[in-house]
Amino acid sequence: MTNPAESAAPVASWHPKTLIVAGGRPAHGLDAPVNHPVTFTSTYHSQGIAAAGEKVYARFSNPTWDPFEQVLGALERSELPALVFSSGMAAIAAALSLVPEGGTMVLPAHSYNGTLGLAKELETAGRFTLHPVDVADTEQVLGALQGADVLWLESPTNPMLEVAELPALLAAAKAQGVLGIVDNTFATPLLQRPLELGADLVVHSVTKYLSGHSDVIMGALATRDETLHTKLHGYRTLHGAIASPMDVFLALRGVRTMAVRLERSQANSQLLAERLAAHPKVNVVRYPGLPQDPGHARASELMDGFGSVIAFEVGSAAQEADAVVAGFGLITAATSLGGVETLAERRARHASEPATVPANLIRLSVGIEDVEDLWNDLSQALERI
Ligand SMILES: *Cc1c(COP(=O)(O)O)cnc(C)c1O
Repeated sequence: MTNPAESAAPVASWHPKTLIVAGGRPAHGLDAPVNHPVTFTSTYHSQGIAAAGEKVYARFSNPTWDPFEQVLGALERSELPALVFSSGMAAIAAALSLVPEGGTMVLPAHSYNGTLGLAKELETAGRFTLHPVDVADTEQVLGALQGADVLWLESPTNPMLEVAELPALLAAAKAQGVLGIVDNTFATPLLQRPLELGADLVVHSVTKYLSGHSDVIMGALATRDETLHTKLHGYRTLHGAIASPMDVFLALRGVRTMAVRLERSQANSQLLAERLAAHPKVNVVRYPGLPQDPGHARASELMDGFGSVIAFEVGSAAQEADAVVAGFGLITAATSLGGVETLAERRARHASEPATVPANLIRLSVGIEDVEDLWNDLSQALERI
């Protein structure tokens, strides 16, 4: 085959830091471009019959998706490409379609609020039953697996930063024939690879660390199971929540720097978390990198880093937290996370947030700015209350 868009396959021995840079490139050759072109088309020349290998129509496939799907699949330690979707929620909707009619799904009580919202909507409609658990409590989760069909995991959780014992939970799910799904958005495949631990499916909001620049809404799924891959590809084709080629180009461009971005944002997070923990106006700091954090021992053992989201509580009510967020200058008051710029929000301002998320909790997504500039902004805002 002499298809100019053909990719050089990622080399199995490559370190993930190399894979994100060198994977998903056109094959080397004289005059070959270094990056794949973006293919803007809705359809392809075809024979009019869906012969094997024909692309036919751009809701079914787009060559712009291929390099990103190849890189993410390899990062998640699958030999199959990932599947891109128009948003993290579109990928989550596809994953939730796997819960059998009338089945039961165990999920963290502090799952991402969009996941909770959609799952509750489907439960209300009679599709399935939910069994919420404290995901940091291994015994509780194991107890809930009895008779369950799907175990949905998120670790660390958004925004409570609870750390789950993924290997034990996924092994138990596998042994009991429970489908294991992990939302790996917070950790990224650089810090944690759930498919290696026995998960059947990994979910990503590519919007966050993978794309990394707050300029894309995109999602993805990764699996090692061919049958599941075919089923989810079919779901994507029929439900139509496909990713725009331009967004996939931006996501691939963004993922190239993910290792250096995370290195810097994690180092910033560690220092800021330590200083916040020592600040008289801050009551609680949740960050798995702090030795006193309940998730610290587990995260040290299971993850290759502690991530770059910090949750901290100020004062006793929403008002004080709102005043701190309103006082930020450099730090942007906004939802979302995983970008190069530091964002903060009082999480419980969303009506969809679980009631157990404290009203005075501020979620800080730490970026790659100079850490002293970030600390100056944090401390001047804290002085206002
Ligand atoms: C943002 C987020 C999602 C949803 O992704 P979108 O791209 O916003 O649709 C899902 N899970 C987690 C953990 C998230 O942070």
